[in-house]
Amino acid sequence: MLTILISGAASGIGAGLAVELARFGHHIIVSDLRLADCQAVAAQIRAGGGSADAVALDVTSDASLAGAFAALPRPVDVLVNDAGLQHVAPLEEFEMTKWDYLIQVMLVGSARLTRAVLPGMRARGFGRIVNVGSIHSLVASPNKSAYVAAKHGLLGLTRTIALETAGTDITINTICPSYVKTPLVDKQIADQARTRGIPAADVIKEIMLKPMPKGVFIGIDELAGITTFLMSPAARNISGQAIVVDGGWTAQ
Ligand code: NAD
Repeated sequence: MLTILISGAASGIGAGLAVELARFGHHIIVSDLRLADCQAVAAQIRAGGGSADAVALDVTSDASLAGAFAALPRPVDVLVNDAGLQHVAPLEEFEMTKWDYLIQVMLVGSARLTRAVLPGMRARGFGRIVNVGSIHSLVASPNKSAYVAAKHGLLGLTRTIALETAGTDITINTICPSYVKTPLVDKQIADQARTRGIPAADVIKEIMLKPMPKGVFIGIDELAGITTFLMSPAARNISGQAIVVDGGWTAQ
């Protein structure tokens, strides 16, 4: 049984990964800004016979991280850097505080958590770090400059730490999904329907799923399966990689 710390696990992909990975018998540390929602996810896992704790953790804060790690019941074998958010605006209208915050959460926050778990992983001779990147780690879309920059940066972090941990059984990889139907995407659907004056169904069909030849949302079960593989001994020499789950988007 591995201990898996997931950031941003109160909602969406993080919460889904927490529930799915718990089914394989792992102990899950459900972390997020939103403690009550983390507690609900952890309670759901325990109600299903799994093992989980909830902890408040703001990935942008050293103090929050120190408090959360001091309270951890056991060392972290697997870190899933999932915390994230989106903000859509052309660069000239993008608030720089908002731009900076997206980078702080998705890029600096991932580095902060990775930095915190690495010494323990080195001491125990094992570790897996799985970053939730995005198709926007590889390609751009207009009006998403901060998100695209953060997610591209995450690949640079992934490759660098893969080299820094090469002499150990520690790996770091970034899963790059295209659209997964979560609250983050639901908000984008509503925003785009409003700004473009079109029905939500058209935003889904004509904008979101259009670049994906398979034409369907990526499932959280797929991301859980990939994470499980990356945690396994069979993936011990896969490190520094972008694992692209995009329904064929980048094959075109
Ligand atoms: P979501 O909004 O459902 O969940 C994101 C979670 O991150 C929230 O619970 C939020 O509270 C948390 N969070 C935000 N700032 C934080 C901070 N400072 N510290 C700790 N937690 C924080 O969104 P989601 O769709 O589940 O997204 C999760 C991750 O997946 C993000 O990194 C996102 O970029 C990535 N992703 C999502 C999609 C998609 O289509 N939904 C596609 C590719 C990648």
